[in-house]
Amino acid sequence: MPLEIVTVPCLTDNYAFLLHAPISGLTALVDAPEAAPIEAELAKRGWNLDFILITHHHADHIQAVDALREKFDTTVIGAEADAHRLPALDMKVKDGTVFSLASEEVRVMDVSGHTNGHIAFYLPNAKALFSADSLMALGCGRLFEGTAEEMFASLSKMAALPAETTVFSGHEYTQANAKFALTVDPNNEDLLARVASIDAAREKGEATVPSNLGLELATNPFLRPHIAELQTQLNMVGASPDAVFAEIRRRKDNF
Ligand code: ZN
Ligand code: FE
Repeated sequence: MPLEIVTVPCLTDNYAFLLHAPISGLTALVDAPEAAPIEAELAKRGWNLDFILITHHHADHIQAVDALREKFDTTVIGAEADAHRLPALDMKVKDGTVFSLASEEVRVMDVSGHTNGHIAFYLPNAKALFSADSLMALGCGRLFEGTAEEMFASLSKMAALPAETTVFSGHEYTQANAKFALTVDPNNEDLLARVASIDAAREKGEATVPSNLGLELATNPFLRPHIAELQTQLNMVGASPDAVFAEIRRRKDNF
């Protein structure tokens, strides 16, 4: 039976995700922005909370860990490199760590850039990537700690996953990202179509997360610095993808 994945909107624009394995009955949470909506979702479904997976140290991803740990007998998993600034970890992981949740394989990827020590969780059988504030729907996280080169290397690793991968990112930022994307890739038909569907979804109050990696590859400017049309728009024909990525990120910061 496939893993059930439930999106839990938290705070103003954060997303947490519950992963439930129907056979074992085990449930994992990816990121803990706010206890109340997560507890309400668990209660509604009659699920326990067995694992909490942490992507990075920002408060809007970890601040409910301790409150949830008080209510549930839960195993908290996060990056060894960030253990000093995360809630107490029961299991420390790093790039390349493979573990299983129920019988589901989870692969840890270091995707530093937004922060140093930001990790993503990739579940090959579920074809799901939990990327939080690294790869985001039509965007990527701001460079608070890492360099443009580090972020682009992280995005490139995720871009190499199968195109059918579902991308679960940490915030509802897609509509703002879309406005920016149009400024650097205005003739991209796939992007224009996606922006129309994003606007329609937001009009109805629907989430635009998760998205799909194939769609990100076709429309997310941060995954496309090697594309000639984008380089032309930026007056950077022939520049390295690293340099073009850095310019796109710089423009987004000032947008
Ligand atoms: Zn963050
Ligand atoms: Fe965040």
